[in-house]
Amino acid sequence: MKQNPKSLKPVILLNIDSLMPEPLEVAIQTGQAPALQYLMENGNYIPNMVTSFPTMSVTIDSSLLTGSYADKHHIPGLNWFDDSRKEIINYGTGFRETFRLGMRRSIHNMIYRLNNEHMSSEVTTIYEELADRGIASASINSFVYRGNTPQRLRVPRLFTTLTRFKNGEWTTEATNIFSLGTFSKLRPWGVATQIAAGNYKFTARELRYLIRKNKLPGFTFCVFQDLDARIHLKGPMDIKGITKIDKEIQKVLNLYPSWEEALNRNVWLVMGDNGHSPTGKRYRDFTIDLRKTLKKYRISRLERSVSKKDQLVLCVNQRMAYIYVLDEQLPLSAVVEKLKNDQRIDIIAWKNGDLIHVESGMRKGSLHYRPGGEYKDVYDQTWSMEGNPELLDLNLTNEKVLSYGDYPDALIRLHSVLHSHSGRFIVVNAKPGCEFKAQATPSHLSGAAHGSLHKQESFVPLMIAGTSEKPIFTRVVDLKEFIIRLIQYQG
Ligand SMILES: [Zn+2]
Repeated sequence: MKQNPKSLKPVILLNIDSLMPEPLEVAIQTGQAPALQYLMENGNYIPNMVTSFPTMSVTIDSSLLTGSYADKHHIPGLNWFDDSRKEIINYGTGFRETFRLGMRRSIHNMIYRLNNEHMSSEVTTIYEELADRGIASASINSFVYRGNTPQRLRVPRLFTTLTRFKNGEWTTEATNIFSLGTFSKLRPWGVATQIAAGNYKFTARELRYLIRKNKLPGFTFCVFQDLDARIHLKGPMDIKGITKIDKEIQKVLNLYPSWEEALNRNVWLVMGDNGHSPTGKRYRDFTIDLRKTLKKYRISRLERSVSKKDQLVLCVNQRMAYIYVLDEQLPLSAVVEKLKNDQRIDIIAWKNGDLIHVESGMRKGSLHYRPGGEYKDVYDQTWSMEGNPELLDLNLTNEKVLSYGDYPDALIRLHSVLHSHSGRFIVVNAKPGCEFKAQATPSHLSGAAHGSLHKQESFVPLMIAGTSEKPIFTRVVDLKEFIIRLIQYQG
């Protein structure tokens, strides 16, 4: 395989976890992020790319790499219920955060099953499509990495008991060049400070290693993940985290004779994956404990497997949650009525065939819609609908043109999660400032959280430098086509 054919201008995508347009712009205007400023001023800047839903990294990275929503790629969130096996799937409470000991199942789910079992074989990743065209890729520090090159992963000896593999070693299908913390390193002497994911310095060093050794492939995906944990704690306007990552990007650009030359030789894309909603202080006001709202029903407990007696299973993704109704005798509408009593619950949605129903604890009325019909939205998708469009803050014109307000690309994104896996379930979104709680859910009071359909979490920035090309639509789900087009048009 061609590592870097002479004709090819490598595309480098830096995904800065939880980078948001506002703090990014403030950091740049106040001179606290010179590298990002250079890329912004010498390229195109899109402040409002619509990300995937739920606004959680696993789902977003899967949408980015496969160019599809969760109905196609089948990664419905950090936390969901596999109805066929009656098993709760959890990829780790902090997808980006350091692993804790005793998370054997999460490590196995995230590092292995996500890529090898859960992600649908009906979709292809950017890596798989490029490989088919003879172009190599690199994945640095991403838990979503499916490619078609067998790579050996190794758990450090101390942690071999955390995995289900003999001697802590296994083979997985990944990119040609593959770096994931201590599991797989590019630099033989590199030391990752965290068990699985490397921190931002480690990530940048791995990228610089590829550049210095002249090993950049056609496409490199590089995830910086430390910003997310800071923002959860300090709130969305934290600038210091951006400054730290910018310093590392400066060192990357400094490997070239000039920053201009860095842009001549490569295409640089910098993006965030999801935004955050600042969370309130008082537990009582801002934490929606679904076990209390639904206390009338028997809810399965985490410490034992789901049993026949359980009526509900709760899977929380911060400001979004799945409520699975296992009891066939219990109508979804009865559970929806209970949820509607809480005015901190925003959009409540469920499906009936291909018809989507929407209600809310905050607004009156209901909305029903399905794909195909007389309304055309700004992404060229068509819909038929009945009921109150305010529930999803939709703007409809007499010409049947549909545009979005507080919930960008809401129709397809809700439709996709409701078709992302089997089972009878309801999707709920929390009002800005609030988050859901079930058993043992991490809390982000007085900080920030994400997961919902709201624009606070749905708009992410994208910088494009080194090319004048742009994605067709300003959505994360349209980046795959864009990246492949960038690489194809060359040579
Ligand atoms: Zn997060």
